[in-house]
Amino acid sequence: MIQSVAFIGLGAMGYRMAAHLPKQFDTVYVWNRNFDKAEQHAAEYGTQAVTLEQAVQADIIFSCLPTSADVAQLLENLSLKSGSVWVDCTSGVPDSAQTLAAQLAERGAIFLDAPVSGQTIGAENGTLTVMVGGDVQGFEKALPAMQAFGTLIKHVGESGAGFAVKAVNNMLMAVNLCAVAEGFTTLKAHGVNLNEALDCINASSGKSMVTETVLPQRILNRSFPVTFALPLLAKDTGIAIDLAREAKLSAPVLSLTQNLIQAASDLSDKNSDFSSAVKMYESWSNITIE
Ligand code: NDP
Repeated sequence: MIQSVAFIGLGAMGYRMAAHLPKQFDTVYVWNRNFDKAEQHAAEYGTQAVTLEQAVQADIIFSCLPTSADVAQLLENLSLKSGSVWVDCTSGVPDSAQTLAAQLAERGAIFLDAPVSGQTIGAENGTLTVMVGGDVQGFEKALPAMQAFGTLIKHVGESGAGFAVKAVNNMLMAVNLCAVAEGFTTLKAHGVNLNEALDCINASSGKSMVTETVLPQRILNRSFPVTFALPLLAKDTGIAIDLAREAKLSAPVLSLTQNLIQAASDLSDKNSDFSSAVKMYESWSNITIE
């Protein structure tokens, strides 16, 4: 029986994810490094803005920070309640999940890696996909809380498996984003109307989430709304390529994609949306995808 839940890290994802928790739980603590956001969340959704020390006394503690290093640093000196489950929704590093799961087990708590996909709109609508690695009993205990913001929630394996699935997922999206940038600059170079081309492709075998949503809603209309920062995508492709290398696999497409996304991130403002990676291609070819 879950008496209390907490959410740590009220960023683009966390702020929206945590908003669903008061619909199902009476006691919902929130904490954010910039504490104004926690107070704003409490005023908007009826959560309780509390100290970090108090937040981690909840039965289920969610976190959603940029990197595993941020989560590890936060957890370093915290004392948790015995039997609590820490559900880390950061897109993190599998090795780190294993280390943190072992450390929390020594303190009588459970660590689950539970990254999410579905973008900020999925967080807002409570329709995220959650891919969970770690202790099965911990998963079952935390499941009702994850259902507050997730629709497809899968236990995918031992500690680190959730982070691995998320990294590979984002790498696949990045591969597609790079391919779409090359494909559409090629079409434009040949004088093709890109909007008409997109309609054809979205009714054909080349379609993908990138062609169905990212290209029309972010790139062709030149809006590039910042909901998922490009450096975060570069981090994810880095995690995926590290996994391939650790397994001593030759992964030429993934490797090239990681280099391209990292280069695009290095060339961009750190607050650029992931879709603005196409601007690197545009600068090479002097062709704008619009
Ligand atoms: P944001 O940058 O919007 O938010 C980051 C949050 O983490 C903020 O609340 C920030 O606090 C906090 N934070 C950053 N560093 C620290 C630290 N060292 N200690 C404590 N708190 C810290 O990121 P997102 O919400 O976009 O992403 C969060 C995670 O979710 C990432 O791992 C990302 O890859 C993943 N993700 C993002 C998606 C998206 O569409 N945006 C989709 C799916 C996954 P403060 O307000 O004080 O800066």
